[in-house]
Amino acid sequence: MAFLRFTIANRFFWRKRSIFTLKLLWFTLSVFIFCEFLIYYIVIIHCHWPQLKGQSPRASEQTSDFVLKAMFLADTHLLGEINGHWLDKLRREWQMERAFQTALWLLQPEIVFILGDVFDEGKWSSSQAWSDDVRRFQKMFRHPTQTELIVIVGNHDIGFHYEFEGMNECIQIGTFFQSFQLHFRKVDNSKRDTVSTTFAYCHLAIFINLLYLSIDGFTMIEQSQYRKRCNDVEKLPSSAPILLQHYPLYRRSDSKCTGEDSAPLDKKNDLFREKYDVLSQEASQKLLWWFHPRLILSGHTHSACEVLHNGRISEISVPSFSWRNRNNPSFIMGSISSTDFSLYKCFLPSENTVITIYCTAGVVLVVFTLAHFLPFTSPFYFVQHLITKYKAL
Ligand SMILES: [Zn+2]
Repeated sequence: MAFLRFTIANRFFWRKRSIFTLKLLWFTLSVFIFCEFLIYYIVIIHCHWPQLKGQSPRASEQTSDFVLKAMFLADTHLLGEINGHWLDKLRREWQMERAFQTALWLLQPEIVFILGDVFDEGKWSSSQAWSDDVRRFQKMFRHPTQTELIVIVGNHDIGFHYEFEGMNECIQIGTFFQSFQLHFRKVDNSKRDTVSTTFAYCHLAIFINLLYLSIDGFTMIEQSQYRKRCNDVEKLPSSAPILLQHYPLYRRSDSKCTGEDSAPLDKKNDLFREKYDVLSQEASQKLLWWFHPRLILSGHTHSACEVLHNGRISEISVPSFSWRNRNNPSFIMGSISSTDFSLYKCFLPSENTVITIYCTAGVVLVVFTLAHFLPFTSPFYFVQHLITKYKAL
Protein backbone atom coordinates (compact mmCIF):
# COMPACT_ATOMS: atom_id res chain seq x y z
CA MET A 1 0.00 0.00 0.00
CA ALA A 2 2.81 2.34 0.95
CA PHE A 3 4.66 1.38 -2.25
CA LEU A 4 1.57 2.15 -4.36
CA ARG A 5 1.19 5.54 -2.68
CA PHE A 6 4.88 6.28 -3.38
CA THR A 7 4.51 5.35 -7.07
CA ILE A 8 1.46 7.58 -7.52
CA ALA A 9 3.23 10.48 -5.79
CA ASN A 10 6.29 9.92 -7.94
CA ARG A 11 4.26 9.92 -11.14
CA PHE A 12 2.43 13.04 -10.08
CA PHE A 13 5.76 14.74 -9.34
CA TRP A 14 7.24 13.91 -12.77
CA ARG A 15 4.03 14.88 -14.56
CA LYS A 16 4.03 18.25 -12.80
CA ARG A 17 7.68 18.80 -13.65
CA SER A 18 7.14 17.87 -17.33
CA ILE A 19 4.26 20.31 -17.59
CA PHE A 20 6.37 23.00 -16.00
CA THR A 21 9.28 22.31 -18.40
CA LEU A 22 6.90 22.46 -21.37
CA LYS A 23 5.55 25.79 -20.15
CA LEU A 24 9.08 27.18 -19.89
CA LEU A 25 9.93 25.94 -23.38
CA TRP A 26 6.73 27.42 -24.80
CA PHE A 27 7.45 30.74 -23.12
CA THR A 28 11.08 30.81 -24.40
CA LEU A 29 10.00 29.87 -27.92
CA SER A 30 7.29 32.58 -27.93
CA VAL A 31 9.76 35.27 -26.88
CA PHE A 32 12.25 34.08 -29.51
CA ILE A 33 9.65 34.08 -32.30
CA PHE A 34 8.44 37.51 -31.24
CA CYS A 35 11.94 39.07 -31.16
CA GLU A 36 13.27 37.37 -34.27
CA PHE A 37 10.21 37.38 -36.57
CA LEU A 38 7.07 39.14 -35.39
CA ILE A 39 8.67 42.36 -34.19
CA TYR A 40 9.72 43.22 -37.76
CA TYR A 41 6.10 42.92 -38.96
CA ILE A 42 4.73 44.85 -35.97
CA VAL A 43 7.15 47.76 -36.54
CA ILE A 44 7.31 47.91 -40.36
CA ILE A 45 3.54 47.61 -40.84
CA HIS A 46 3.26 51.17 -39.51
CA CYS A 47 5.32 52.50 -42.42
CA HIS A 48 3.50 53.78 -45.47
CA TRP A 49 4.24 55.23 -48.88
CA PRO A 50 4.06 59.02 -48.77
CA GLN A 51 1.46 60.71 -50.94
CA LEU A 52 2.34 63.31 -53.55
CA LYS A 53 0.32 66.48 -53.77
CA GLY A 54 -2.60 65.91 -56.12
CA GLN A 55 -1.59 62.30 -56.71
CA SER A 56 -4.18 60.59 -58.86
CA PRO A 57 -5.24 57.18 -57.57
CA ARG A 58 -5.62 56.06 -61.18
CA ALA A 59 -2.16 57.08 -62.33
CA SER A 60 -0.73 54.32 -64.45
CA GLU A 61 2.73 53.41 -65.60
CA GLN A 62 1.88 54.70 -69.06
CA THR A 63 1.07 58.23 -67.95
CA SER A 64 3.19 61.09 -66.76
CA ASP A 65 1.37 60.79 -63.41
CA PHE A 66 3.04 57.47 -62.73
CA VAL A 67 4.42 57.36 -59.21
CA LEU A 68 7.36 55.07 -58.61
CA LYS A 69 7.62 53.37 -55.21
CA ALA A 70 11.34 53.34 -54.43
CA MET A 71 13.12 52.13 -51.32
CA PHE A 72 16.57 53.47 -50.39
CA LEU A 73 18.93 51.88 -47.90
CA ALA A 74 22.65 52.22 -47.30
CA ASP A 75 25.74 50.78 -45.64
CA THR A 76 24.74 47.20 -45.00
CA HIS A 77 28.42 46.33 -44.32
CA LEU A 78 28.19 42.55 -44.54
CA LEU A 79 31.10 41.38 -42.43
CA GLY A 80 33.95 39.55 -44.07
CA GLU A 81 36.28 36.77 -42.98
CA ILE A 82 39.02 39.09 -41.66
CA ASN A 83 37.27 41.35 -39.14
CA GLY A 84 33.93 39.61 -38.79
CA HIS A 85 33.27 37.41 -35.77
CA TRP A 86 30.96 34.56 -36.80
CA LEU A 87 28.36 35.38 -34.12
CA ASP A 88 28.30 39.07 -35.01
CA LYS A 89 28.00 38.15 -38.68
CA LEU A 90 25.19 35.68 -38.02
CA ARG A 91 23.23 38.14 -35.87
CA ARG A 92 23.56 41.20 -38.14
CA GLU A 93 22.83 39.32 -41.32
CA TRP A 94 19.79 37.66 -39.79
CA GLN A 95 18.46 41.05 -38.65
CA MET A 96 19.00 42.66 -42.05
CA GLU A 97 17.50 39.71 -43.90
CA ARG A 98 14.37 39.72 -41.73
CA ALA A 99 14.01 43.51 -42.01
CA PHE A 100 14.44 43.50 -45.78
CA GLN A 101 12.20 40.51 -46.47
CA THR A 102 9.48 41.86 -44.16
CA ALA A 103 9.65 45.29 -45.81
CA LEU A 104 9.42 43.71 -49.27
CA TRP A 105 6.41 41.65 -48.25
CA LEU A 106 4.55 44.45 -46.50
CA LEU A 107 5.47 47.46 -48.62
CA GLN A 108 6.12 45.94 -52.06
CA PRO A 109 8.50 48.54 -53.48
CA GLU A 110 8.99 48.56 -57.23
CA ILE A 111 12.66 49.36 -57.02
CA VAL A 112 15.25 49.17 -54.23
CA PHE A 113 18.52 51.10 -54.19
CA ILE A 114 21.42 50.23 -51.89
CA LEU A 115 23.64 53.26 -51.66
CA GLY A 116 27.02 51.57 -51.30
CA ASP A 117 29.16 49.80 -48.72
CA VAL A 118 27.28 46.58 -49.19
CA PHE A 119 30.32 44.75 -47.83
CA ASP A 120 32.70 45.61 -45.05
CA GLU A 121 35.82 44.02 -46.49
CA GLY A 122 35.16 44.02 -50.22
CA LYS A 123 38.31 46.00 -50.79
CA TRP A 124 40.50 43.29 -49.22
CA SER A 125 38.59 40.17 -50.16
CA SER A 126 40.14 37.26 -51.96
CA SER A 127 38.07 36.00 -54.87
CA GLN A 128 36.88 33.08 -52.72
CA ALA A 129 35.79 35.38 -49.86
CA TRP A 130 34.19 37.78 -52.35
CA SER A 131 32.14 34.96 -53.90
CA ASP A 132 31.02 33.87 -50.45
CA ASP A 133 30.02 37.44 -49.50
CA VAL A 134 28.08 37.89 -52.76
CA ARG A 135 26.29 34.57 -52.23
CA ARG A 136 25.18 35.64 -48.74
CA PHE A 137 24.13 39.04 -50.02
CA GLN A 138 22.01 37.47 -52.74
CA LYS A 139 20.29 35.24 -50.21
CA MET A 140 19.61 38.06 -47.74
CA PHE A 141 18.39 40.51 -50.34
CA ARG A 142 16.50 38.07 -52.56
CA HIS A 143 13.53 39.69 -54.23
CA PRO A 144 10.75 38.86 -56.65
CA THR A 145 11.32 39.50 -60.36
CA GLN A 146 8.93 42.46 -60.40
CA THR A 147 11.16 44.28 -57.89
CA GLU A 148 14.42 45.68 -59.17
CA LEU A 149 17.47 45.88 -56.88
CA ILE A 150 20.21 48.33 -57.79
CA VAL A 151 23.49 48.47 -55.92
CA ILE A 152 25.75 51.51 -55.97
CA VAL A 153 29.40 51.05 -55.19
CA GLY A 154 30.91 52.24 -51.89
CA ASN A 155 34.46 52.63 -50.59
CA HIS A 156 34.22 49.46 -48.48
CA ASP A 157 33.22 47.52 -51.58
CA ILE A 158 36.25 48.34 -53.71
CA GLY A 159 38.36 50.81 -51.72
CA PHE A 160 39.06 54.53 -51.90
CA HIS A 161 40.38 56.12 -55.06
CA TYR A 162 43.93 56.43 -53.66
CA GLU A 163 43.99 52.75 -52.72
CA PHE A 164 44.02 51.82 -56.38
CA GLU A 165 47.48 53.14 -56.98
CA GLY A 166 49.52 50.18 -58.09
CA MET A 167 46.49 47.96 -58.35
CA ASN A 168 44.52 46.81 -61.30
CA GLU A 169 41.45 48.82 -60.49
CA CYS A 170 39.59 47.65 -63.56
CA ILE A 171 39.61 44.09 -62.27
CA GLN A 172 38.24 45.13 -58.88
CA ILE A 173 35.54 47.41 -60.25
CA GLY A 174 34.74 44.89 -62.96
CA THR A 175 34.27 42.15 -60.36
CA PHE A 176 31.89 44.34 -58.40
CA PHE A 177 29.76 45.24 -61.37
CA GLN A 178 29.84 41.72 -62.71
CA SER A 179 28.60 40.42 -59.37
CA PHE A 180 25.72 42.85 -59.30
CA GLN A 181 24.92 42.87 -63.01
CA LEU A 182 25.33 46.57 -63.40
CA HIS A 183 22.16 48.30 -64.34
CA PHE A 184 23.46 49.31 -67.77
CA ARG A 185 22.83 45.86 -69.08
CA LYS A 186 19.23 45.81 -68.06
CA VAL A 187 18.28 48.60 -70.42
CA ASP A 188 19.89 46.73 -73.28
CA ASN A 189 17.26 44.10 -73.06
CA SER A 190 14.01 45.98 -72.78
CA LYS A 191 11.99 42.78 -72.59
CA ARG A 192 13.50 42.05 -69.21
CA ASP A 193 12.87 45.51 -67.86
CA THR A 194 9.79 46.37 -65.94
CA VAL A 195 8.15 49.66 -66.83
CA SER A 196 9.08 50.91 -63.35
CA THR A 197 12.73 50.21 -63.94
CA THR A 198 12.76 51.92 -67.30
CA PHE A 199 10.93 54.85 -65.78
CA ALA A 200 13.58 55.11 -63.08
CA TYR A 201 16.45 54.78 -65.52
CA CYS A 202 15.14 57.18 -68.09
CA HIS A 203 13.47 59.85 -66.06
CA LEU A 204 14.47 59.86 -62.44
CA ALA A 205 17.83 58.82 -61.27
CA ILE A 206 21.48 59.22 -61.99
CA PHE A 207 23.70 56.67 -60.32
CA ILE A 208 27.17 57.91 -59.69
CA ASN A 209 30.32 56.10 -58.81
CA LEU A 210 31.77 58.89 -56.75
CA LEU A 211 34.76 57.06 -55.46
CA TYR A 212 36.87 58.63 -58.13
CA LEU A 213 35.17 61.94 -58.20
CA SER A 214 38.11 64.06 -57.40
CA ILE A 215 38.49 66.70 -60.03
CA ASP A 216 41.95 65.55 -61.00
CA GLY A 217 40.90 62.69 -63.20
CA PHE A 218 37.75 61.02 -62.02
CA THR A 219 35.78 58.17 -63.34
CA MET A 220 32.06 58.54 -63.29
CA ILE A 221 29.29 56.28 -64.32
CA GLU A 222 26.08 57.96 -65.10
CA GLN A 223 22.85 57.55 -66.86
CA SER A 224 23.58 59.51 -69.99
CA GLN A 225 25.25 56.48 -71.58
CA TYR A 226 21.90 54.97 -72.12
CA ARG A 227 19.69 58.01 -72.20
CA LYS A 228 19.50 57.65 -75.95
CA ARG A 229 17.93 54.22 -75.49
CA CYS A 230 15.19 55.78 -73.41
CA ASN A 231 13.98 57.97 -76.25
CA ASP A 232 11.92 55.25 -77.82
CA VAL A 233 10.48 53.95 -74.59
CA GLU A 234 8.24 56.68 -73.29
CA LYS A 235 7.51 60.26 -74.05
CA LEU A 236 7.39 61.75 -70.59
CA PRO A 237 8.27 65.31 -69.61
CA SER A 238 11.95 65.73 -68.88
CA SER A 239 12.60 66.36 -65.22
CA ALA A 240 15.43 67.27 -62.94
CA PRO A 241 17.29 64.09 -61.92
CA ILE A 242 17.79 62.56 -58.51
CA LEU A 243 21.41 61.87 -57.66
CA LEU A 244 22.06 58.57 -55.93
CA GLN A 245 25.56 58.11 -54.58
CA HIS A 246 27.56 56.68 -51.71
CA TYR A 247 29.49 59.79 -50.69
CA PRO A 248 27.68 62.87 -49.42
CA LEU A 249 28.37 66.16 -51.11
CA TYR A 250 30.71 68.42 -49.18
CA ARG A 251 29.58 69.67 -45.77
CA ARG A 252 31.77 70.81 -42.91
CA SER A 253 30.32 68.48 -40.29
CA ASP A 254 27.07 67.01 -39.03
CA SER A 255 26.67 69.79 -36.46
CA LYS A 256 23.43 71.05 -38.00
CA CYS A 257 21.89 67.62 -38.42
CA THR A 258 18.87 66.92 -36.28
CA GLY A 259 16.67 63.97 -35.49
CA GLU A 260 16.86 60.89 -33.31
CA ASP A 261 19.13 59.09 -35.78
CA SER A 262 21.53 61.92 -36.51
CA ALA A 263 25.19 61.57 -35.45
CA PRO A 264 25.84 61.22 -31.69
CA LEU A 265 26.52 64.46 -29.82
CA ASP A 266 30.23 63.75 -29.28
CA LYS A 267 30.74 63.23 -33.05
CA LYS A 268 28.52 65.96 -34.45
CA ASN A 269 31.16 68.64 -34.46
CA ASP A 270 33.94 66.50 -35.94
CA LEU A 271 35.08 68.16 -39.15
CA PHE A 272 34.69 66.05 -42.29
CA ARG A 273 37.71 65.40 -44.46
CA GLU A 274 37.27 66.06 -48.16
CA LYS A 275 37.53 62.97 -50.40
CA TYR A 276 37.37 60.76 -47.31
CA ASP A 277 34.23 61.56 -45.33
CA VAL A 278 32.61 63.71 -48.02
CA LEU A 279 33.30 64.76 -51.60
CA SER A 280 35.61 67.67 -52.23
CA GLN A 281 34.04 71.12 -52.39
CA GLU A 282 35.00 71.44 -56.03
CA ALA A 283 33.50 68.10 -57.07
CA SER A 284 30.33 68.84 -55.11
CA GLN A 285 29.85 72.19 -56.84
CA LYS A 286 30.48 70.63 -60.25
CA LEU A 287 27.86 67.96 -59.66
CA LEU A 288 25.29 70.54 -58.63
CA TRP A 289 26.17 72.69 -61.62
CA TRP A 290 26.15 69.84 -64.14
CA PHE A 291 23.00 68.06 -63.15
CA HIS A 292 20.84 70.58 -61.28
CA PRO A 293 19.35 67.69 -59.30
CA ARG A 294 16.06 68.05 -57.49
CA LEU A 295 17.19 65.64 -54.76
CA ILE A 296 20.36 63.90 -53.63
CA LEU A 297 20.44 60.68 -51.59
CA SER A 298 23.70 59.45 -50.14
CA GLY A 299 25.11 57.08 -47.51
CA HIS A 300 28.57 56.60 -45.95
CA THR A 301 28.10 58.57 -42.69
CA HIS A 302 25.82 55.90 -41.12
CA SER A 303 23.75 58.72 -39.56
CA ALA A 304 20.82 60.77 -40.77
CA CYS A 305 21.06 64.33 -41.96
CA GLU A 306 19.25 66.71 -44.24
CA VAL A 307 21.32 69.39 -45.93
CA LEU A 308 20.22 72.15 -48.26
CA HIS A 309 22.74 72.92 -51.03
CA ASN A 310 22.69 76.33 -52.67
CA GLY A 311 19.62 77.09 -50.58
CA ARG A 312 17.28 74.83 -52.56
CA ILE A 313 18.66 71.36 -53.37
CA SER A 314 17.99 68.91 -50.61
CA GLU A 315 20.43 66.11 -49.77
CA ILE A 316 19.33 63.28 -47.50
CA SER A 317 21.96 61.15 -45.78
CA VAL A 318 20.46 57.69 -45.46
CA PRO A 319 21.52 56.02 -42.16
CA SER A 320 23.05 52.57 -42.06
CA PHE A 321 20.71 49.62 -42.47
CA SER A 322 22.81 47.49 -40.10
CA TRP A 323 22.29 47.20 -36.34
CA ARG A 324 26.06 46.89 -36.09
CA ASN A 325 26.33 50.58 -36.92
CA ARG A 326 23.16 51.88 -35.29
CA ASN A 327 20.74 51.06 -32.51
CA ASN A 328 17.87 52.29 -34.68
CA PRO A 329 18.47 51.57 -38.39
CA SER A 330 16.01 52.77 -40.99
CA PHE A 331 15.37 53.07 -44.70
CA ILE A 332 13.76 55.71 -46.87
CA MET A 333 10.56 55.16 -48.81
CA GLY A 334 10.09 57.48 -51.76
CA SER A 335 7.07 58.16 -53.93
CA ILE A 336 8.56 59.68 -57.05
CA SER A 337 6.91 61.04 -60.16
CA SER A 338 8.55 62.75 -63.12
CA THR A 339 8.01 66.14 -61.53
CA ASP A 340 7.58 65.58 -57.81
CA PHE A 341 8.75 63.41 -54.92
CA SER A 342 7.86 62.73 -51.32
CA LEU A 343 9.94 60.81 -48.79
CA TYR A 344 9.14 58.91 -45.61
CA LYS A 345 11.57 57.32 -43.16
CA CYS A 346 10.71 53.84 -41.95
CA PHE A 347 12.43 52.91 -38.69
CA LEU A 348 13.28 49.29 -37.93
CA PRO A 349 12.99 47.69 -34.47
CA SER A 350 15.41 49.24 -32.03
CA GLU A 351 18.13 46.95 -30.69
CA ASN A 352 17.49 48.25 -27.15
CA THR A 353 13.86 47.14 -27.35
CA VAL A 354 14.85 43.62 -28.39
CA ILE A 355 17.51 43.38 -25.66
CA THR A 356 15.03 44.67 -23.04
CA ILE A 357 12.47 42.05 -24.08
CA TYR A 358 15.06 39.27 -23.86
CA CYS A 359 16.31 40.48 -20.45
CA THR A 360 12.78 40.79 -19.06
CA ALA A 361 11.94 37.32 -20.35
CA GLY A 362 15.12 35.99 -18.70
CA VAL A 363 14.14 37.49 -15.35
CA VAL A 364 10.61 36.08 -15.64
CA LEU A 365 12.06 32.65 -16.43
CA VAL A 366 14.36 32.75 -13.39
CA VAL A 367 11.54 33.91 -11.08
CA PHE A 368 9.16 31.20 -12.30
CA THR A 369 11.83 28.50 -12.04
CA LEU A 370 12.79 29.49 -8.48
CA ALA A 371 9.14 29.81 -7.51
CA HIS A 372 8.50 26.33 -8.85
CA PHE A 373 11.22 24.75 -6.79
CA LEU A 374 10.56 26.71 -3.60
CA PRO A 375 7.61 26.08 -1.32
CA PHE A 376 5.45 28.99 -2.43
CA THR A 377 2.12 28.53 -3.98
CA SER A 378 2.62 30.89 -6.90
CA PRO A 379 5.23 33.19 -8.50
CA PHE A 380 3.21 36.11 -7.21
CA TYR A 381 3.84 35.08 -3.58
CA PHE A 382 7.44 34.33 -4.43
CA VAL A 383 8.02 37.86 -5.80
CA GLN A 384 6.14 39.30 -2.83
CA HIS A 385 8.36 37.29 -0.55
CA LEU A 386 11.51 38.55 -2.30
CA ILE A 387 10.34 42.14 -1.96
CA THR A 388 9.25 41.93 1.67
CA LYS A 389 12.00 39.68 2.97
CA TYR A 390 14.51 42.45 3.52
CA LYS A 391 12.03 45.13 4.30
CA ALA A 392 13.33 47.55 6.92
CA LEU A 393 11.73 47.17 10.34
ZN1 LIG B 1 31.49 54.38 -47.04
